[in-house]
Parts: sequence; structure tokens; C-alpha cells
Amino acid sequence: MGSCPPAHRRSISPLSRRTTRAQTGGTPSSPSTRTLTIAVKDNICTSFLPTTCSSRALSSFHPPYDATCVSLLLTHGAHIIGKTNLDEFGMGSFGVHSVHGPVRNPRDRERVPGGSSSGSAAAVAGGLCDVALGSDTGGSIRLPASYSQVLGLKPSYGLISRYGLISYADSLDTIGLLARDFSALRETFGIIAKEDEKDATCAPAEVRAEMRHRTEERAYGLSELKAGASGLRIGIPAEYFPAELGPCSIQPLRHALSVLHSLGATLVPVSLPATKYALSAYYVLASAEASSNLARYDGVRYGWRAPLEEGERGDTAARYAKTRSAAFGEEVQRRLLLGTYALTADAFDNYYLQAQKVRQMVKHDLDSIFRAPNVLNFPPNVNSSEPSQCIPLRPELDSGVDVILHPTAIGPAPLLEDVREGRGSPLDAYVQDVLSVPASLAGLPALNIPVPVNADVRAEGGEGTEGGVGVSVVGQWGWDEMVLNVGELIY
Ligand code: GLN
Repeated sequence: MGSCPPAHRRSISPLSRRTTRAQTGGTPSSPSTRTLTIAVKDNICTSFLPTTCSSRALSSFHPPYDATCVSLLLTHGAHIIGKTNLDEFGMGSFGVHSVHGPVRNPRDRERVPGGSSSGSAAAVAGGLCDVALGSDTGGSIRLPASYSQVLGLKPSYGLISRYGLISYADSLDTIGLLARDFSALRETFGIIAKEDEKDATCAPAEVRAEMRHRTEERAYGLSELKAGASGLRIGIPAEYFPAELGPCSIQPLRHALSVLHSLGATLVPVSLPATKYALSAYYVLASAEASSNLARYDGVRYGWRAPLEEGERGDTAARYAKTRSAAFGEEVQRRLLLGTYALTADAFDNYYLQAQKVRQMVKHDLDSIFRAPNVLNFPPNVNSSEPSQCIPLRPELDSGVDVILHPTAIGPAPLLEDVREGRGSPLDAYVQDVLSVPASLAGLPALNIPVPVNADVRAEGGEGTEGGVGVSVVGQWGWDEMVLNVGELIY
């Protein structure tokens, strides 16, 4: 991996170094002999570096505590190399909505790296670190991983504590990982995927035990799969090939499917009919939650405060308006207006409630195609530490699939100039998430695998397609390990 050009170093903001153990008093207990070098997306709290969310609103915020995932990494002796740039508060797809300026793609500096975990993807692609922490609400790890050709894991919702992740849309927000290789990805995931009483949505020990029990019953270990994947059933969802999909999105998927087929896996066409409504529902729900979450940055209780003129001092409304108009960028303001509108009495039923219904339909679609039942639909017995034998789980579906595969994005990384000049509407950025939001709405594990495109496709797709588009592997809730194993087969 080549070293990162100087412009990308500037995109990591700030890139201060620290020695981790001295400050935490932690003892490294990682099983590996190497020290993991980790970059942290700047919406994840660190007590030793500012946490700005790439927003003027938090330009001088120094958190008094570390996020749980950061504490766990420090305790395991990881070396945190710095904080990474992002689309403000995680809202964006290209890495251009930041008070620190845009991020460039180390694979091709004229292109965007994808967002919102733009700096994390660039740091990994540029070889600055083994792993970068990112956050994924609707695709913000997978899209930049696809554009920047690195591994990107959005784990099952609730496996990694969100304590210390600054909220964008809590019901969708997930901390995840971008990495150059599977071993660093697995090691880091193993360290931070722990229960945490500080996050009420973090899966408790009983649910984790139940999952371990179920996954151990099945022979989906990496070495077993490498020896022959004849038991594996791979779903190919018909609805994941929208009109916007470019040629360089299809060929990597074909390649991945042929690898799995040659190992003996069965390829199964599946249908997820609610997919076509998922993107609209996501933007209503995410914006509605954002409008509530970001209400706290009023310049009085929290955040940067705009200077006021003499006559404005006693005017609270003017104080809020002036501060919030200057503290947030254009994209965040657009989301706040959209989200506030969706929650008004007039629009609530038609927008917010409809979007919640679509979310249930998307979940139901996915639950009905996976062979494994969703353990979250059947809460385990909290009075027993034994794996639950008595849960009336739906019998596993013989006709079901273990994972689905689909292109991660509708095309390769766009040119930075095109994005900056505003060629295309804001909707063009939203459409980039069309394939990633269903897994977010359903809280499922999803992994981007970089797959190079071949020369024919490059010729067909035109300039800029060298990077190609990644392939996503999505599994049932809690089957993250199997998603990683299937991903590693095609890597
Ligand atoms: N691009 C999407 C959005 O702007 C996804 C963001 C994310 O996953 N944080 O909402």
C-alpha cells in the first residue's frame, strides 16, 4: 500500500499522535503480537483529542470521556493515530460537507472517497492505519469502502456500543470498521463488539450467548467454507438492480458469485419487494431523528455561539437563529428542515408514520428470506444464563438463504470537481445509498468487499472505472461472523 499523499494527510483532522497505555493505565491483552494502529471518525468521542463532527457547531468540543469502543481499544493496547474528517454529523455521501474541507480519494485524487466516513476510508486506503472506526447510519461505511476499495463492515445494530458516538439518527446509527485486511478487521471487531450497560440499545450478554450457540451449530467456519461451500445458499435480490446501476457495478458482483458458485454454493434468486420504498423511508426517518438530536446545539446549552449585535442580545429567537444558521452547513440545514417538517402535526401521518411502516416491511422481507430466524424477534430468557432451548423459533427455512450479495454502490467514485460544482441535485447524493439503506433499516450486518473490475468493463464504463464498485454481503441479525467468512472467500 503506497503512502498517503500530503493532501490526504491534511484531510485527517487533526492527526495528533498519542501513546495510549500511559493515559489509560490499561494493560494490552490483545492476542496478536502487533500493535493495531487505528484512526477514529471525528463523531466518536475521545477525551484526548477534540471531537468536532466536522461542524462549526462543535469546533471547540473536547469530550470529557472516551467512547466505549475507544476505551476498549486503548485497554487492548491499540495506537490511536488521530481523528478523521467526515460529512458534517455523518450527513452526506461524498465527503465534501465538512468545515475542514473535502477529502480526496487516495486511489485517484481527482475523485471523492465517499462519505460520510470519508477520512476513515482515505486513511485506510492511503495506508495510514490498519483499521479506521467509522459510523454507518445508511451506508456511510460501505459507500466510502466501495469508492476507496477497502473492506468496510457495518455490524448488526447493537453489537458495538454507541456510547460516545455523537447521534445522527439513533435507531440507525452503527459504529463499524474500515480495514485493509481481514485479520485486522476481525481482531478489532473482536475487541469492540462487547455488551455495554451505558448503551441501552447494545445487545445484552444473553442475546450474544444465544447467537454464539446458534452460529456454532452451523458449519460456516472459514476453513470449512474454503474446503467446500456446498451447504451455502446465496440470495441475489431482484430489486437490487435499479435503473441507475452502471456496468462497473455488475461485473464485480458476477465475479464474486462465480467464485462462490465454483466453491459449491447455490445461487438463489430472491425478491425483496419493499426495497423500492426503502430510500425514501430512510431519508424521512434519518432526518426526523436528526432534527430532534441536533436541537441541542443552540449555542446556549451546547455548541459554538454566533456573536450578536448590541440590539440582539435580549432576543432569544434571534440568538438561536443566528447561531444555528452559521453553525451548520447547507446539507445539515436541509436535513433539519426536512426532518422538522416530517414531525409536524400536518405531515406526521403521511411521512413519519408511513416511513416507519415501510421500515417494518423491509425488515419483514429480509426476515422471510433468511434461513436463520432473527433472534431479536424472540427475546431470550433473561433469567437463565443457558442458551435458550425453549424459544419457539421458526424452524429454519430449507428454501431460505444464508446471505444476500449485491453491488455496494450504483457506480464508482465521482469526480470531486463534479460534486463541488454542484453538478446534479442533492438527490444524486441520496441515490448513492439506494442499495445500502435496506440493511440499515433492518439493523443487519453488511460488509463491503473490494473487487477489481476487468479491462472490458473499464472500456465499457469509461474513464474513472478503474476502481470499480465493491460487493456487499448481508446476513441475518447477529450472523456477522458468517458474513465475514463469506466475504473472505471472495476477497
Ligand atoms: N448518505 C447517507 C446520509 O447522508 C448515509 C449517512 C450515514 O450512513 N451516516 O444520510
